Amino acid sequence: MKDLVEYKEKIHSCSKCGLCQSVCPIYKITGNDCCVSRGHFIMLKGLIKGDLKMTKKMNRYLDLCLKCGACSKFCPSDIDIVEIIASAKAEYFKAHPAEKIISLIQRIFVSTLHIIPSVKSKSKKFDKKVLYFSGCKGGNITSLLNSCGIEVIEPKFNCCGIPFYARGDKETYEKYKNNFTKIIAKYNINEIVTTCASCEKTLKGYKIEGLKIKNIYEYLKENEIKLKLKKTQKVTFHKPCNIENFKDIKWILENTENLEFIEMKDFDSCCGLNGITKLSEYKIMSKLFKNKRNNIINSGAKIVLTSCLGCEAALSVYSLFKYKTFDLIDFLNKNTKKS
Ligand code: SF4
Ligand code: SF4
Repeated sequence: MKDLVEYKEKIHSCSKCGLCQSVCPIYKITGNDCCVSRGHFIMLKGLIKGDLKMTKKMNRYLDLCLKCGACSKFCPSDIDIVEIIASAKAEYFKAHPAEKIISLIQRIFVSTLHIIPSVKSKSKKFDKKVLYFSGCKGGNITSLLNSCGIEVIEPKFNCCGIPFYARGDKETYEKYKNNFTKIIAKYNINEIVTTCASCEKTLKGYKIEGLKIKNIYEYLKENEIKLKLKKTQKVTFHKPCNIENFKDIKWILENTENLEFIEMKDFDSCCGLNGITKLSEYKIMSKLFKNKRNNIINSGAKIVLTSCLGCEAALSVYSLFKYKTFDLIDFLNKNTKKS
């Protein structure tokens, strides 16, 4: 994670064209320039120059950003808002001791998520091996891949560090990054598979030379592994913002036998996860929730699948029992016919 000042040039390259406003889900609801990239950059310019201080109000505007990256895709100046917001949050983190206490609580919570032992591959002859990063939630790809002749090796990793990156706790984020790098160095491998979109993006951000980070769907597609459900099930899919290549997931959804996939309206719009953690912004976020929920219900599917721990939690919380939410790989693991 770079210091905010290192982004000075990038921040200054914002031409104030306002294109980000046309795609930002938060700007669409609030109409407030302080909530979108253009406004963020005006504030951050003032902060770097020393004309402004990192106040609670400024932090609130940064927190309102969903880090969905929709604006970056449209930005003619090619500015990565998510990286810059993380560095700006680090400024707030440094200046506010209460943030350190929250981060410590978060760290304790995250450590409790790693007590579930990983599932060992059954001892039989396998054609291939794959190294797996399960993330905080964990997830069992072992039996699914074992049935396809692939051995799964799951070292005892920790969190990828994304909650701390988002909070601006640079030190803790770096600790998790170093922990991952040390473990990886023990294996003579050039690729690792993960099942969570946010973990995938974070691990890619480590930029470890020679190591390819893949999501499980890319891996399944590459190896042409076609699955079959035990019975016909109708599902829709919510695309997490952190998934860069939806084509692989679509291939799974369209090529799994007995899986009836219905694409919902705005399947790639942000779920509004920030609203779950920021109850103070509930009014703003509830509009995002409602749109997403209506699109799921209108698809006609009673099951929504996704591939990010955060999205899964958000979709479940505001489902109001109208549909069930599952992680795609958990769903496949539970419902697939295994040889
Ligand atoms: S789209 Fe990019 S260049 Fe245009 S106002 Fe937004 S951040 Fe600035
Ligand atoms: S990342 Fe998403 S929420 Fe944040 S400013 Fe860009 S479009 Fe808006």
